[in-house]
Amino acid sequence: MFKGSCCCGAIRFTLMTPPTMMGTCHCTRCRKVGASTFVFVKREGFTLDAGADCVATYAPELPYKYNRCFCRKCGTALGEINSSSESFPVAAHCFDDELPVKNLFHEFVSEKPGWYNICDDAKQFSDHPHK
Ligand SMILES: [Zn+2]
Ligand SMILES: [Zn+2]
Repeated sequence: MFKGSCCCGAIRFTLMTPPTMMGTCHCTRCRKVGASTFVFVKREGFTLDAGADCVATYAPELPYKYNRCFCRKCGTALGEINSSSESFPVAAHCFDDELPVKNLFHEFVSEKPGWYNICDDAKQFSDHPHK
């Protein structure tokens, strides 16, 4: 069981099954919303325990389609916890418990600012990872 929360504690969630993988996105958008390192979780194992009324959603304009959730009290980026997909990304920094996964890849490295150094051996992709 893996507990997560926002900075002010209003939003709390529990993950019953371990995340399937962790990745880091260096695109300008993920960087600005503060959700660069994320884990993919399964909908069936994810429970929002508190703070549903504090979850705000930023819906971008096309061509961007993924809604980004954040706490309306403290601004913590949460990932796509309102997604209707079977599997969706949650911001890794929200977890209070250690996670049994390590960063697997870096994507959109072409948009990474020069001041950020990648310090692990994870695979790097200039944009989206190729399937
Ligand atoms: Zn909060
Ligand atoms: Zn991104």
